[in-house]
Amino acid sequence: MKSSISSVLAIVLGLGLASGNSAWAQPTAAPGEAGEAYQGMPAIAPMGVRVDRYLPVPNSAAVPPVDPAKGYRLQELGHGLYMVTDNAYQSMFMVYDKGVVVMDAPPSYSAHLKQAIAEVTDRPITHLIYSHAHIDHIGGAADLGGHPIIVAQEETKRLLERSNDPKRPVPTVTFKDRYTLKVGSQVLELSYHGNAHEPGNIFIWAPAQKVLMVVDIVFPGWMAWSGFADAQDIPGYFNQVAEIDKIPFETLVSGHVDRVGTHADVREQLEFMNDVKSATRTALQTTPPYVGMADADKTNPWAVADNYIDRVVVKCVDAVTPKWQSRLAAYDVFIWSQCFAMQQSLRID
Ligand SMILES: [Zn+2]
Repeated sequence: MKSSISSVLAIVLGLGLASGNSAWAQPTAAPGEAGEAYQGMPAIAPMGVRVDRYLPVPNSAAVPPVDPAKGYRLQELGHGLYMVTDNAYQSMFMVYDKGVVVMDAPPSYSAHLKQAIAEVTDRPITHLIYSHAHIDHIGGAADLGGHPIIVAQEETKRLLERSNDPKRPVPTVTFKDRYTLKVGSQVLELSYHGNAHEPGNIFIWAPAQKVLMVVDIVFPGWMAWSGFADAQDIPGYFNQVAEIDKIPFETLVSGHVDRVGTHADVREQLEFMNDVKSATRTALQTTPPYVGMADADKTNPWAVADNYIDRVVVKCVDAVTPKWQSRLAAYDVFIWSQCFAMQQSLRID
């Protein structure tokens, strides 16, 4: 039985299991009783554990406030390009001689988006660009009214046709790899770099302004959203952060957090991600299976995998916390899910 369980495990965990039982430890609690915490459990609370409070967010006092009466903040990015934000979501609009091009419409402030544009111009919205299909970034599209030309990558169109959501009208113009939008004297270069966060998620490059908008990949100064921002392809996500760094932008609009980003932010995130990757790889190679398990559970391959993965994640969190807990805002909120997502990707991708 043990050998067959070991082979199942080797498949489930992607491991070459050592032969023999020398690494197996005795269970710390009787079946059905709560066991002791995993050895080496870090001080940061694991997923599913409620904490009295999270680590304080560094530099939060330096963020320009959002006027609560308006519900948004407008930031000029040069040559008729503006960022709109509520300090949690970010979108952009660009003014040209006959109208306005809107890039994303997050529902969290889409009711005020026309007012934000009216602060700058009374020209009509002629174009709307979707960064990707997710409702939290474009679910305010219908609130803009009118019949703008809607531009998106073809995968975004496919996903939106499937969603059949009146809040997110289907794109009227699609492209596969590249699309240049020229309106008056303004230019936007759209490009697709493959799946990372979600199929269809694009780079929006404003060359005259040296502004790059890529949503849900980089989180300037902050821990990424859980599971590398719900990346559907984690190796693709690692590649895309590196690709963003190659674009000669001066300002990065990343779709989230309370400020725009720089190349230093991109490199810091990449360094953090590579630290998580190498800590996880080490943990996968050095963590023995079965430790602390009840004998009766050792024939349950799902339980054995769960026990092993939990201890891999503990090792990863312990390894990266000293360096990163005070460098990334909200580090403690999602470090567990980054380590969890990383071990999954390293085992099976
Ligand atoms: Zn998204």
